[in-house]
Order: sequence, then C-alpha cells, then structure tokens
Amino acid sequence: MLSSSYLTVETDSTNLFINGFSFTRHMVNADTIYWRCKEFRALRCPARYRQRRTTGLLETGRTNHNHSPISTRRKRGSLKEILRQRTTRKMQS
Ligand SMILES: [Zn+2]
Repeated sequence: MLSSSYLTVETDSTNLFINGFSFTRHMVNADTIYWRCKEFRALRCPARYRQRRTTGLLETGRTNHNHSPISTRRKRGSLKEILRQRTTRKMQS
C-alpha cells in the first residue's frame, strides 16, 4: 500500500510535484482537492491524486503514469517527439 510518507511532495497553490511528476489542480470542493497529472491532456496520462483540504493528506488515486517523469520544461516540438516514440514502441511490441 502506498503511503504519503515516502513520497517527495512539493506543492504551491496550483501545482503539485510528486516524485518528479507534476500535477495541476483539477477540481476543488468542500473537503477535497483533485490533482491531475500535467500530461493528462497531452498524453492522456491517467495518474491522479486526491488531497484532503483539512489535513493536507494525499490519497492515492491512480498512481501509474504512462510516461517518464518530466523534470525539465518541455521544449517546443518535443511533445510531438514523445508521441512519435510512443507510437513506434507500440508498433514494435
Ligand atoms: Zn503522468
């Protein structure tokens, strides 16, 4: 079972960084903040977390990313490159 204790988590008001992955705030309701992987749109990454507003405690939702951690800001055109590599990999398997 995943616990938040060994995760490297940094956060500001609209971004959450977990183990090299960045998340953006998707939805906020009375007691929960929903974080979604930044690559949700670009790569349809399914990873997401929920966070209790009262305690700040992270609850793991889906934690598997369909891509590698992206630690540096993406260069122009590199998304195309990632998508191309993924397509290639898919064709090879
Ligand atoms: Zn992701």
